[in-house]
Amino acid sequence: MRIRPVQFVLILGLCITLYAQKEPAGQQSPLLGFDRDGSSRERALEKQFDSFIKKDDLRDWMKRLSARPHHLGSAYDKENAEFIASLFRSWGFDTAIERFDVLFPTPKTRILEMTAPQKFVAKLEEPALPQDATSGQRSEQLPVYNAYSVNGDVTGELVYANYGNQQDYEELARRGIDVRGKIVIVRYGNSFRGVKPKIAAEHGAIGCIIYSDPRDDGYFAGDVYPQGAWRNEMGAQRGSVADLPLYAGDPLTPGIGATPDAKRLDLKDPGTTLTKIPVLPISYSDALPLLRALDGPVAPTSWRGALPITYHLGPGKAVLHLVLEFDFNTVPAYDVIAQLRGSEFPDEWIIRGNHHDAWVNGAEDPISGMIAVLAEAQSVGQLVKTGWRPRRTIIYCAWDGEEQALIGSTEWAESHAAELQRKAVLYVNSDNNARGFLSVGGSHTLEKFINDVARDVLDPEKQVPVFERWRARAILEGSAENRREARDRPDMRIAALGSGSDYTPFLQHLGIPSVDLRYGGEGETDGVYHSIYDSFDHYTRFADPGFHYAAALAMTAGRTVLRFANADYLPLSVSNLTDTVARYITEVTKLSKDESDAIAEKNRNIDNNTYDLVADPTQRSVTPPKEPPATGLNFTPLQNALTRLQQSTRNYDAALRDASTSTRLKSRDTQQLLDSALRQIETALVDERGLPRRPWFKHMIYAPGFYTGYGAKTLPGVREAIEQHKWNEAAEQIAIVASTLERTASQIDRATSVVKGTGVRPLVP
Ligand SMILES: [Zn+2]
Repeated sequence: MRIRPVQFVLILGLCITLYAQKEPAGQQSPLLGFDRDGSSRERALEKQFDSFIKKDDLRDWMKRLSARPHHLGSAYDKENAEFIASLFRSWGFDTAIERFDVLFPTPKTRILEMTAPQKFVAKLEEPALPQDATSGQRSEQLPVYNAYSVNGDVTGELVYANYGNQQDYEELARRGIDVRGKIVIVRYGNSFRGVKPKIAAEHGAIGCIIYSDPRDDGYFAGDVYPQGAWRNEMGAQRGSVADLPLYAGDPLTPGIGATPDAKRLDLKDPGTTLTKIPVLPISYSDALPLLRALDGPVAPTSWRGALPITYHLGPGKAVLHLVLEFDFNTVPAYDVIAQLRGSEFPDEWIIRGNHHDAWVNGAEDPISGMIAVLAEAQSVGQLVKTGWRPRRTIIYCAWDGEEQALIGSTEWAESHAAELQRKAVLYVNSDNNARGFLSVGGSHTLEKFINDVARDVLDPEKQVPVFERWRARAILEGSAENRREARDRPDMRIAALGSGSDYTPFLQHLGIPSVDLRYGGEGETDGVYHSIYDSFDHYTRFADPGFHYAAALAMTAGRTVLRFANADYLPLSVSNLTDTVARYITEVTKLSKDESDAIAEKNRNIDNNTYDLVADPTQRSVTPPKEPPATGLNFTPLQNALTRLQQSTRNYDAALRDASTSTRLKSRDTQQLLDSALRQIETALVDERGLPRRPWFKHMIYAPGFYTGYGAKTLPGVREAIEQHKWNEAAEQIAIVASTLERTASQIDRATSVVKGTGVRPLVP
């Protein structure tokens, strides 16, 4: 039985949650978007859905799909797409494979050698292991490399630049180290790998090496594979270095589907997402001789990894020679699209996807998520056999080419953009999955809904709702504010989505409400990420041996899809959106003041000679240049728009409360009108002009950081302009976001009118 929080009471100044134990299912609180009877029926259906999920199926599918390397363009990638399509068909879905023709470079030449102070040639190979049955499939494995690096033959002195972030180069500059004309070596982690060569090139480096430091995912983290789960000395991380914060998808067809007749950019076009300098990933056994040969200043404490050396910054005696040459092939990408038509609102689409391609065998990434999609589709197929039909259309998708540039999802979303903007009501994503805690990122209109889902899925290890473990972890491990909120706020907060998986084209390009679901934190998977050791053998020892969390993911995403498909009206909550936007506005307002103070402080220290007084005369140090003072920003337009948004939100919630006792929301016409109004709340957050210098990204609330990649930047236009001290641009972006929020408030007002039954006519399709 489930345990549910029912109320909060204040005792001795502490908020304590009371629990009502063992509530009978029929007495659970109604679900968002359903009345009481509808909620009971829905929960009964979900129990039946769960009963069709079999861990043996999950295990068999993973074994089959990860049996051979299946990267984009490979023979087994196509076989997997056909196998997945045949499963969907056998379960009764209207299934098609959609093909796109996309750029996928593979290496012809990879040479990395140190020419001074002594000769060393990097091996650039991961050896097969007897304990790992698929690790020896040499002829089908992609070598260790970074896709979308340019060709290059460069020789230069080596400099160590930590994670290769902006601040790391500022730190080097303060020590008088200039990377112009040099090759930089940076470590994996902390940011998306594609921004590392981007920032290196902006600072004038001519080549970039990315290595896996044992501190981050090797022996410092735990025992290494095959004894333990973590990265061994020869393990290396493949991966895309496309400039994905610029645009996602095939580098040659931004904004349009990569169909055979699509107009393509030239490979030499400076506006593509290819890197500007050659870049290559290496293992720590290949990195050690290079880092050992570095001289120059000792690296700052926080830059030091776990190799048995003193980390130096260079440059100096260590000289590298890097040669990379690629075949810039066009290869087919195969998306599998399986549809089940809705009985009442067939033109409202719920899309559920995961990618099927991997870098090598990819048991964890992506098959651990893909098998959940299969289990969900199989269960839905079983439900259909009992006579049930979803009210709205459900579409299951298995994407190709995610690893290169979110290619399959992006090309599909771009090809069907107009139809998706009219019809899609939700995109549900997953990618990799392992034992542990639910983690959720997504549109904040979905926050309340997904908390309800988490209250109804049982954690396989603790037999409590996954919501309870999610909350307990925030209380124990979170900041003071996380702790207070986890205890007092009815809903756990969900993360804002940046990038790194297939939700990006749906949310950030098209403005479709999206959610990303995964379990993890206990299963150990980081150490084999994008290596030949991400295998069935590794997964079943270290990630989720019993496939319990694969089943939990299927039950979580399955509920998400089923509730959206069956609800009287779309279960979106505007109050969670408004609450979150208010926080973001507070954050950027504070950021503006903090940046302005930091500039003033720096300039004052330059004027007062403070840097020079502190500097050690035996070490080289450079005083940073003075900067013009910040221009004060006027946040009033954002505050006014927020006030309007808050008022509209209160009106909508009040109207919905009043309507809950009337029969109006049971009318099909009202439901359709309300869905249409609610769906367009997320669309209203999109501005067709897009973000500065990256018009493909159109969502004004969420984007991947231009210089961080995976991590979300919220209110990105305003926030990044402030971070980059572009004060005029920040002022422009404040006005744009303010009008976006006004538009969103009007859209909420439209939904309110529908709920009240006042003055809204159906839209002519
Ligand atoms: Zn993945």
